[in-house]
Amino acid sequence: MRQPRTAVPFAAALVAICALTPSAAAGSGPPSVLLLTLDTTRADALGAFGGRGTHTPVLDGLAARGVRFTQAITSTPLTLPAHASLLTGLAPPEHGVQVNGTDVLPKNVATLAEAYSARGYATAAFVATLVLDHRCGLARGFEHYDDRVPGEPTAAHPDTERDAREMTDVVLQWLQVRPAGKPLFLWVHYYDPHEPYRPPGVDPKASAARRYAGEVAFMDREIGRLLAALPGGAERWLIAAVGDHGESLSEHGEPNHGIFLYQPTVHVPLLFAGPGVPRGQAVAEAVATRRLASTLLHLTGSGRVAPAFGPGLPGLPGSPALPGLVSGAPSPVYLASRYPLTGYGWSPLEGMFDGRFKLIVAPRPELYDLAADPGETRNLLDRQREPARRLQQALAAARRSFKVRRADAADPELARSLQSLGYLSGSGASGKGTLDPKDGVPMLAELATARALSGKKSWKPAIAKLTELVRLNPGSVAFLISLAEVQLDGGQGDAAIVTYRRAVRENPKRDESHRLLADGYRRQGRGEEARQEYELALELNPRSFPAWRGLADLAEKAGRPGEVRSLLTRAVAAGTESVSLLEQLAKIEAAAGDAAAAESHSAAARRLKAGLP
Ligand SMILES: [Zn+2]
Repeated sequence: MRQPRTAVPFAAALVAICALTPSAAAGSGPPSVLLLTLDTTRADALGAFGGRGTHTPVLDGLAARGVRFTQAITSTPLTLPAHASLLTGLAPPEHGVQVNGTDVLPKNVATLAEAYSARGYATAAFVATLVLDHRCGLARGFEHYDDRVPGEPTAAHPDTERDAREMTDVVLQWLQVRPAGKPLFLWVHYYDPHEPYRPPGVDPKASAARRYAGEVAFMDREIGRLLAALPGGAERWLIAAVGDHGESLSEHGEPNHGIFLYQPTVHVPLLFAGPGVPRGQAVAEAVATRRLASTLLHLTGSGRVAPAFGPGLPGLPGSPALPGLVSGAPSPVYLASRYPLTGYGWSPLEGMFDGRFKLIVAPRPELYDLAADPGETRNLLDRQREPARRLQQALAAARRSFKVRRADAADPELARSLQSLGYLSGSGASGKGTLDPKDGVPMLAELATARALSGKKSWKPAIAKLTELVRLNPGSVAFLISLAEVQLDGGQGDAAIVTYRRAVRENPKRDESHRLLADGYRRQGRGEEARQEYELALELNPRSFPAWRGLADLAEKAGRPGEVRSLLTRAVAAGTESVSLLEQLAKIEAAAGDAAAAESHSAAARRLKAGLP
């Protein structure tokens, strides 16, 4: 991966930027603020950050009329924790949100939206994925939080995400009707570069890198359409754009992002443009993207950053000095990833990066000199003692400085929906986390191979491969479930039951394991055992619609239509949100002659399909 180096030295940039005060350029009142979060966007996906073969004229243009940070590093390469850091200024161990789907931002953590709200701003957010659902806590402080993404695939949203065109459309619609008279803090999240890569106009058979670049280009175009329509003209808005994390296009063997702390997934674009921001500057210091929060607050003229965001939380070096807050010297950036542990039962990772050397703490620790080795291929830990010791000390100091909050627990149904979309939740493993992710990641390729084999109904080799993977990852629910699924499909029902039972024993609090075990029993004709496991799943998560559906199927097979109707009614009352379940219940009510109930369920299904609340 390229390491863009810029010609503007840090001190010169600082002088240039400090020459401007936020209020001098802001006109009569504070400017409206647009925060663009670019999901899964690596720095070198944008031309302005050294990208080649990419087409991003809009974001490049913003960078050209603002300040870009060429070594911006995310706190963690996972969507929800990274966004929690951007919107609170805190590192993941501090705000407590470390995993998608199971962690919720604690109520005692102040958010950027609350800070803007307190300053008299109107606040609105538009997010494109269920991962940022309001139930995760990021909605706090926003008067308007548009997270209309269905929790299961629908015809309009086959990937259960909103694409860039739809995001720009909904924001523009809202801007037409939004209350006037106040400056606006507007956060718009674009998700397109995240898998699957299916950009419009690009051959679906093209390479992953080309399709990924196509998604970034599509997002860029739609951001252009948003900027062109901003009320009063985009030049009068303070605009920040930042990647939540990057993407490994199979570098280091990683399939996408979330596990490793190497540059492809942690080095992201970060830029500011608009009132108070000088044109055409680049800052080459390594900076944590979570500094964005206090920097924005300063640039909108507050002068002093809210107590909730300091003291002690500096803005970005090279951004206008935050009186009393800027520490002056850049400090190494803290990095962390819990996903290896929560997803697979492997060791979690932590790291420090000073712009040249990166230390990664793992069972087999690593040190890279990115100036000499930008691909992070030569571990220098044994040869470069001094930088390793310095970064170890910095890491220890960072840990000591963290004021740790415990994340609130997530809504179990939200966690389940995310799991069904391929986001393994924090309950996916119970291992002690001793395996080095460097040894674990190659097994993900093996897992993909096994799944491909089972897709071709080559059950024997698929089961053999998965059995070996389970042997190597005995505590990992993720691998156990994969093996059981293939055993069940491959006609080894009894073996599948044994494997599912093992997954349940590894983590008895995971409702999805009970539900899958129940499905296994049902397919084996063991109705009573199936019923018991479905009940256990619903005890843990009353909104698990697959569990309700499983119970209803059992009742239907047993010829008890009245019980089916009552189960589905209870499922809806429990708050399950499933189009197919609502449609089935509407049919049952219609057949039973209750037209009003049928119409009510049909209407709810239609609303859910359209992604409406
Ligand atoms: Zn993301």
